[in-house]
Amino acid sequence: MRPVFEVTGLGVRYRRSWALRDCSLAVPAGRVAALVGPNGAGKTTLMHAAVGLLRPTRGQARVSGEVAFVAQDKPLYDSFTVAEMLSFGRRMNDRWDGEAAADRLGRLGVALDRKVSRLSGGQRAQVAITMALAGRPDLLVLDEPLANLDPLARHDVMRTIMAEVANRELTVLLSSHVVSDLEETCDWLVVLNGGRLQVSGDIEELLDGHLVLTGPEEAS
Ligand code: ATP
Repeated sequence: MRPVFEVTGLGVRYRRSWALRDCSLAVPAGRVAALVGPNGAGKTTLMHAAVGLLRPTRGQARVSGEVAFVAQDKPLYDSFTVAEMLSFGRRMNDRWDGEAAADRLGRLGVALDRKVSRLSGGQRAQVAITMALAGRPDLLVLDEPLANLDPLARHDVMRTIMAEVANRELTVLLSSHVVSDLEETCDWLVVLNGGRLQVSGDIEELLDGHLVLTGPEEAS
């Protein structure tokens, strides 16, 4: 199947140090890819190169179609209400499906008239991801979407993502330290360590090859 996200010979250098070296990988359409690796492995750098937030020093990163990115701190406008955030998106993106977004948040119990500053961490994650999905991207890139969430909120966030994947062709690349949250939902694995690609491929095939997916440190 055609790759939606592909990097070839990707290298990124910040001043004197290389954050990524010679990475080549592709994520096929419709896959949910987990990007794992210890702190400083280069996960955020890879995602920033993928979505065009930084220019690679070497090689290239290509995305076919529309891409949506949710940064780790889930930036939203705190003084807006959730409904205002949704209407804001409509003005910026003509693929925007605000009604589906409002429905989804309603079902999750997020009040549309609530100020963003008053959302819980889990609700904030849901709003940020729902906003990203409302633009109907082909590729959804999420930097640590589960960070600082309790187990129930982590489960709900993964459910939101998987519901969209079940509904239409969407490719997802998400990074996490909580590998156990990803085992049941992700079907593609990318492991980085020290800026180098360790492993990339179909999780089932990798597990057949006896890769033990116990945590970023062990996986590296
Ligand atoms: P974490 O899990 O801690 O978020 P990560 O895997 O996302 O880490 P990156 O944030 O991509 O890793 O960082 C990779 C390397 O690049 C690290 O050594 C980091 O210190 C360095 N780095 C990241 N951003 C910059 C920057 N803007 N300037 C200089 N060095 C940077």
